[in-house]
Amino acid sequence: MATVLENAKHRSRIPVYTSGCVTKNREGKELAEIEGMRELGVKMLTDDGDTTGDPAVLLRAMQYATEFGMFFASHCEVPELAGPRALNEGVMSYRLGIKGSPACAEEIIIDRDIRLARAAGAHVHIQHVSSKLGMETIRWWKSRGDVKVTAEVAPHHLLFTDEHIGDYDTNYKMNPPLRTQADCDALLAGSSTAYSTSLLPTTPRTLPSKKPRILSARPMASPASIRPLSRSITTSSSPENLGGTWW
Ligand SMILES: [Zn+2]
Repeated sequence: MATVLENAKHRSRIPVYTSGCVTKNREGKELAEIEGMRELGVKMLTDDGDTTGDPAVLLRAMQYATEFGMFFASHCEVPELAGPRALNEGVMSYRLGIKGSPACAEEIIIDRDIRLARAAGAHVHIQHVSSKLGMETIRWWKSRGDVKVTAEVAPHHLLFTDEHIGDYDTNYKMNPPLRTQADCDALLAGSSTAYSTSLLPTTPRTLPSKKPRILSARPMASPASIRPLSRSITTSSSPENLGGTWW
C-alpha cells in the first residue's frame, strides 16, 4: 500500500486514495491491520468483492475506525443466497436453468450494514446498488436522519436488465447481477450519491459450452464497455459532496 501511495504521489497529477480491507484476506473473520493502514492515509475500509461475513467483526471495525475518521464501503451479498453469482433470480434464470441470485441476497446486507453503522456511529457507503427494494431501504434510512449513509449505482444497472443475457451472453454477467426493468427505473429515480463502475478484467469467452461459460465467467465491467454507457446516462440526481474522501 505504501508503494501504491508513493507512486501515485510522484506520477499522478490528481489526488489518489486507496482503500483497505476490513478483515484479513477479505475473509470476514479477523480484523485487518487497520491502525497501520490509517497511518498510511487510508480513509476507506471495505472487503469489496465479498460482504464482511461476521457482523460482530464489522461492528468492532466500525467502532474502532470511526474514531479515526475512516469510513466503510459495503459489498452487499449473502453468499448462501447468491449461489454461483451467474444472474438474477427470475424468469431468465428459470429459462436458462441456472440458479439465480435473488435481490434479497443484496437487500438483507444493505439493511444489516446500515444498522451496524448506526449502532457504531459510522459512515457506511453502499456499493453498486442493483435492486429497487435495496434503494428504497437506503432512502428510508436516509430519511430518518440518524445514520450517515451514502450509496452508488453502476451505469450498467441503470441501462440493462437480465433479459439482455439472452442466449448465455457473458457480456451481461455482473455482480450484483442485472435485474429487472422495474429495478432500473427505481435506480434512475433513486437517491444514489455517486456512480461507480467497479471495473474488472473481462473474461475471454473460450469455453465451448454456453452454460458452463456463463457460470465460470468473471462479471463484466470493462472500461471499453462502460465508457459509452456512462455517456448515455441522463439523470437529474446530483451527487452529494462526500467530504473529499472519495475514489
Ligand atoms: Zn462489490
